[in-house]
Amino acid sequence: CGIVAYVGERTAYPILIKGLQRLEYRGYDSAGIALINHGTKVYKCKGKVKDLEEHSKGKDITGTIGMGHTRWATHGEPSDANAHPHTSMNGKFTVIHNGIIENYAHLKRELTARGYAFQSQTDTEVLANFIESIYSENQVDAELAVRLALTKVIGAYGLVISCIDEPGKLIAARKGSPLVIGVGKGEYFLASDATPIIEYTDQVIFMNDEDVAVITRDHLDLKNIQNDMLVPKVQKIELSI
Ligand code: GLU
Repeated sequence: CGIVAYVGERTAYPILIKGLQRLEYRGYDSAGIALINHGTKVYKCKGKVKDLEEHSKGKDITGTIGMGHTRWATHGEPSDANAHPHTSMNGKFTVIHNGIIENYAHLKRELTARGYAFQSQTDTEVLANFIESIYSENQVDAELAVRLALTKVIGAYGLVISCIDEPGKLIAARKGSPLVIGVGKGEYFLASDATPIIEYTDQVIFMNDEDVAVITRDHLDLKNIQNDMLVPKVQKIELSI
């Protein structure tokens, strides 16, 4: 339903919480965040963003990279376990997702046969494990694993993905579900619409279908799923807060 993410030098947590609040108008049943520092910490729960804040109280909320999600359940009831982010079985990939993976049942059967176990009923967790299986079995980097997985996925997605082995980086992809990149100075923002971004920067890139963005604090690569490099079109948006 709603996506917000940050890569930069500031503490990500308040940016993510505020961003999720700005996306609340869309309606949702659960909320969650992942913070990347030394390792990845995931806090998520059924309920509202204020429940998530309550849930995160007293916990380690450091990290200058992170992602946040508000979920509108399509596969699996609203619950703590089904809330995003979802992490793959061996902890390699953490994923937030808007949309629906149509062929998730088929992928889930294949992954189960190969020993994958699932903590949730979501289509999103299937995708996280599918990416991890490609990553582990083919010894490719995170970005290639994501792109290979997406060539086999049927459905709609706005995705933000992190890999534990490549901690300074977020990978974003879209098909049929909007994603906007906010370009700051030494920082990038990602969101499902511009509302969480506009107070930080008016320079944005609207991702197109089948675009994949590989983002670190000081660099952005925009490509398509087939690995052709694209020239990002940075636009100035004029929205009032
Ligand atoms: N299909 C996913 C789920 O049910 C994502 C739903 C959404 O767009 O929030 O968890």
